[in-house]
Amino acid sequence: MATSYKELGLVNTKEMFAKAVKGGYAIPAFNFNTMEQMQAIVMAAVETKSPVIMQVSKGARNYANGTILRNLAKGAVEYAKELGCENPQIVLHLDHGDSFELCKDCIDNGFSSVMIDGSHLPYEENVALAKKVVEYAHQFDVTVEAELGVLAGVEDEVSAAESHYTKPEEVIDFATRTGCDSLAISIGTSHGAHKFTPAQCTLVNGVLVPPPLAFDILAEIEQKLPGFPIVLHGSSSVPQDEVATINKFGGKLDAAIGIPEEQLAKASKSAVCKINIDSDSRLAMTAAIRQYMAENPSHFDPRQYLKPARENMKKMYIHKIVNVLGSDNKL
Ligand SMILES: [Zn+2]
Repeated sequence: MATSYKELGLVNTKEMFAKAVKGGYAIPAFNFNTMEQMQAIVMAAVETKSPVIMQVSKGARNYANGTILRNLAKGAVEYAKELGCENPQIVLHLDHGDSFELCKDCIDNGFSSVMIDGSHLPYEENVALAKKVVEYAHQFDVTVEAELGVLAGVEDEVSAAESHYTKPEEVIDFATRTGCDSLAISIGTSHGAHKFTPAQCTLVNGVLVPPPLAFDILAEIEQKLPGFPIVLHGSSSVPQDEVATINKFGGKLDAAIGIPEEQLAKASKSAVCKINIDSDSRLAMTAAIRQYMAENPSHFDPRQYLKPARENMKKMYIHKIVNVLGSDNKL
């Protein structure tokens, strides 16, 4: 029995992206794996009156089980209403779908949006795969994000990734032939909490500043596809106070460096209308848990340390929405 996202009270990304591109802000796309993350996301979105994308990776599905995540998303909509939001705009999105079958499974089971990531494939295969997913998804009013250009990962050398950047000359052909609703591009962001090595950064007033995003490429893409929704992956800022807390209370995170928030705020004002943030939530959760456990060694009730963890994530989500993406008061 298939479940439509519409029965769950979720929405697809179409209208919210159109409004975000026009309004010069970006919708937050927060990954979640646990109930506490879901609660923090919903509380932050309701408090700031922001639309929000709750995204689930393949890893999240393996960790938490797809059925449970779908019901958490359904719970998220009802919870938002309970918190006083009459018309919550919540998207349940598959992050980095790697096959047609996985995308289909999500579409059939309550997701309102999916990403098909064929960015590692040769160009024509990427087009064919994305097109196949779009054709299936659009029958059910589910929106599709595709990717062009490869994001540097933790192991890759970001400074040498020029050839991985999205090629602006390909975007019109790709968007037209696939029919995708949004396009993830590569302009210098990357996945994980170690986006840059200190050697790639410049030391400014004792702070390591990473190389800027390729705004020239973004501008070229915008020129080729006016008003088309653009997505940035790997856009955590890796707050240094959270890293310091983790390290102070027994953690060991060396040279964790993210994308400066000013860069993301600048991107939000362009056609970039979805910004993916995952690592910052992990850092906020871990920092709060480590601190609580170190300061309260005799406590063992998970609620005791998950409560401050949830609070800390909520604070981070609100900060992103209000101070970085500008999606507050957009419901
Ligand atoms: Zn990603």
